[in-house]
Amino acid sequence: MRFARAGEDQSGEVRLADLDRLEDVLVSNEGVVSYRIRGGLRAGRPVLRLELDTTVMLLCQQCLEPYRQELRIEREFPVARDEAQLGLWERDDPLLDALVADPELDVLTLVEDEILLSLPVAPRHAEGECGQAGI
Ligand SMILES: [Zn+2]
Repeated sequence: MRFARAGEDQSGEVRLADLDRLEDVLVSNEGVVSYRIRGGLRAGRPVLRLELDTTVMLLCQQCLEPYRQELRIEREFPVARDEAQLGLWERDDPLLDALVADPELDVLTLVEDEILLSLPVAPRHAEGECGQAGI
């Protein structure tokens, strides 16, 4: 909470290999995720802004060859003081994706969640690039 209000800034890197839930969906767990978390305020509410940058290996659904997919993710989460406040916010806006203030906020889990949400439902090469590698 203080982090958000003070507009603090934290950045670092996480190894893909440390994100267990990605293991089943990625062709390779080599590589890193660069992240940056910043605190701020929006409309008077404390928020956390999360930026992620990584490249993952996915399996193309069209040619069944692996390919590299770059992911750049920017998300902003309102931070509720506690579960009660979160409940009030969610009653106003059921789709609100907010966090509850937690001094032990788990950055790994947050990063992993956002990557899982951002992966394409049907991964495939960019138009016209199928079959160019490995032939
Ligand atoms: Zn392909």
